[in-house]
Amino acid sequence: MDCIFCKIVKGEIPSKKVYEDEYVLAFHDINPIAPVHVLTIPKKHIVSLLDIKQEDKELVGHLHLALQKVAKEMGIDGSGFRVITNIGPHGQQTVFHLHYHLIGGRQLEWKM
Ligand code: 5GP
Ligand code: ZN
Repeated sequence: MDCIFCKIVKGEIPSKKVYEDEYVLAFHDINPIAPVHVLTIPKKHIVSLLDIKQEDKELVGHLHLALQKVAKEMGIDGSGFRVITNIGPHGQQTVFHLHYHLIGGRQLEWKM
């Protein structure tokens, strides 16, 4: 399958890893929009939030706990941060493998 993030999971494309376990990988975004910009993904190929199935419930919970670990690892749990997952054209999703942007390290604005 021609998926950039599956290739990152397999180590075929290098990444700067922040956290890894059996089910989840977190790595620095190649084009950061803030001092901290980490992508957290399931190792399983899921296209977007819309494609999460009943059988993935445990995986999604696990991924949320991994997001906590990443925030602590990056030292932004105290200052706060934002988690975003983009879906489809209006969401401007560009990589079709479920991923959560964890963004922080500076004051964020909300207006888009
Ligand atoms: P999306 O726009 O789909 O929500 O987010 C995709 C993100 O993946 C973008 O922020 C983009 O910078 C990042 N990205 C795309 N290709 C690569 C890559 O090869 N390595 C890393 N580390 N990030 C990538
Ligand atoms: Zn994939």
